[in-house]
Amino acid sequence: MTVKFRQELNELTAYKPGKPIDDVKREYGLTEVIKLASNENPLGCSPKAVEAVKKAADNLAIYPDGNTTLLKEALANRLNLKPSQVLLSSGSDEMVDQIAKTFIDKNDEIIMADITFPRYISTTKMMGGTPKIVPLNDWTYDLDSMLLAITDKTKLIWLCNPNNPTGTMFSEDKLLNFLKQVPKNIIVIYDEAYNEYVTNEDYPKNSMNLLKNYPNLIVMRTFSKIYGLAALRVGYTMASEEIIHNINKIRGPFNVNTLAQVAALAALEDDEFIKKSYEINREGKEYLYKEFKSLDLKYAPSETNHIFVNVNKDANEVFVELQKRGMIIRPIVETWIRVTIGTMEQNKKFISLIKEVL
Ligand SMILES: *Cc1c(COP(=O)(O)O)cnc(C)c1O
Repeated sequence: MTVKFRQELNELTAYKPGKPIDDVKREYGLTEVIKLASNENPLGCSPKAVEAVKKAADNLAIYPDGNTTLLKEALANRLNLKPSQVLLSSGSDEMVDQIAKTFIDKNDEIIMADITFPRYISTTKMMGGTPKIVPLNDWTYDLDSMLLAITDKTKLIWLCNPNNPTGTMFSEDKLLNFLKQVPKNIIVIYDEAYNEYVTNEDYPKNSMNLLKNYPNLIVMRTFSKIYGLAALRVGYTMASEEIIHNINKIRGPFNVNTLAQVAALAALEDDEFIKKSYEINREGKEYLYKEFKSLDLKYAPSETNHIFVNVNKDANEVFVELQKRGMIIRPIVETWIRVTIGTMEQNKKFISLIKEVL
C-alpha cells in the first residue's frame, strides 16, 4: 500500500526558482554577479522601511496583528476605499491561491492568456479547474478573443496589466469595453503588480473606481516590485466587501508577518523613494531601447521594470552564456529573454555582455 496524492497534482510541477546569486558565484568562480532576472528594485527599498523593520525586530515573540489593521487603513485611505474592501496577503502569490480556493470548483473553465504570470495556470490546475488559454496577440493581451472564450462554464478570468513577462499593456478603453461585456457572475482578476512603472497615458487610470460598477472585479497589487520589499512578501487586494469577506474565510490567521506589515506601512509613506525608482526605471528603459535598436534586436514596448527582447539566438543558450559571465536574466520562449531594468551601471554591463555573447 502506498499513499495517494490528489489527482490534480499529476498536472503540476514545482516552481523552478532562478539560481541564487551565491550559487552562480560558486559554480563559475565569479566574485561579482548581477541578477536582472526577477524584476526586483535595483535601489532596494525605502530606508524608512529598513528602520521600521529594525525597530520591530526588538520583539519577535508576539504574533502579528492578524487583521493588519494599520496597513489596511493606510491603504484604504490612499485608495479611497473602505478598509473592508482591502485584504493583505503574503505576496500576491498567496492571494492568487486564495482567490482560486475561494472560487474555483472542479471543471470550472478559467480563462487566461499565454504568455502571462505562470501562477494563474498552476493554481487553476491545483483546484481542478480547466484552463482556457488565449494566446497573446503581438505579445499583448487579446481581450476580444478572451471574450469569445467565455462559455456557460466560465468561472473566472485572469488579467495581468501590464503583463509579465512581456511588459506590454492594454488601454483603459479596451479594459472598459471588456468589463462591460463580461457577464457579472464571472470573476475578473486584474493583476496590477507593475502599475507604478507605467509611462503610457492610455493605461487605465484608476482601477479602484471600477470596483463600484463591477462587483465581479478583483484588483491585486504588491509591495514586491517598485516598493522593493520582495523578501518580506506583502501583497494587497481590493474588491467588493462581499468578495473580501469570503476570501477572508480561507485566509490563514497570521499570513502577513509583523516585519512585513511595518515595512509596508513605512514604504507606503515614502513617495520620494517611489519617484526615484520610477525615474531610474524610465531612464534605464530608454537607454536599453536605444541599445537594442542599434543592435537590431526587437523588443516589446514595456510599461514595467523589465523588457522582453528577441536576441535572435536560442534564449537558453544566451542565458547560460550570460550566466558564465556573471549576469543572470530569464530565458522565456524561443529566442526571447526577459531582462529586468537595473541601475544604469547594471544596464551598461548587461549591454556589454550581451554584445559579447551575440
Ligand atoms: C511579481 C508578480 C506578482 C507577485 O508578486 P509577490 O511577490 O508574490 O507579491 C504577481 N503578479 C505578477 C504579474 C508579478 O509579476
